Amino acid sequence: MLGQRSIRRGSKWVCTFVAAACLAGFAVSLLYWVAWRDSSYRVAVWIEGGFVGGKWGSAPRTPPPVAAGFEFAELPAAMRGVGLWPRVMHNPNSDSLEVPLWMPFLVTAGPAAWLWRKDRRLAKLARVGKCTGCGYDRAGVGARAKCPECGLAETSPSQSRR
Ligand SMILES: [Zn+2]
Repeated sequence: MLGQRSIRRGSKWVCTFVAAACLAGFAVSLLYWVAWRDSSYRVAVWIEGGFVGGKWGSAPRTPPPVAAGFEFAELPAAMRGVGLWPRVMHNPNSDSLEVPLWMPFLVTAGPAAWLWRKDRRLAKLARVGKCTGCGYDRAGVGARAKCPECGLAETSPSQSRR
């Protein structure tokens, strides 16, 4: 049970972090173009206009005019805008895919919200002295004893936290 619980806690934080990153990325991408690329110019990832994009493929014939690493530029007003749906582009030298940030946001924010709610419910159960596994009233059961109903050993989420 403990293993399952730490997996759940891990996914809760990962989902929360990714969802928050999508939100922050979206806000930034409305005004800025932020990209990272490798020195060969084979791989690049960026955010722009509500999208997170990636490019992969063979290197272009001429080396890129900029060095590898992060690049950051304000978007000219004419280039600002938000797209809603994924875009795939096939170029002679590379393929690229752009995914609107609302997609990874929805995929992670939904589970994150569910997991946060579930944790709150469990904490509430533990506060009123009920088993967090099955809701059995643990009054009279030793703090370290297993739940007589479902066999869950842990009594409250706060006790399992370091
Ligand atoms: Zn129980």
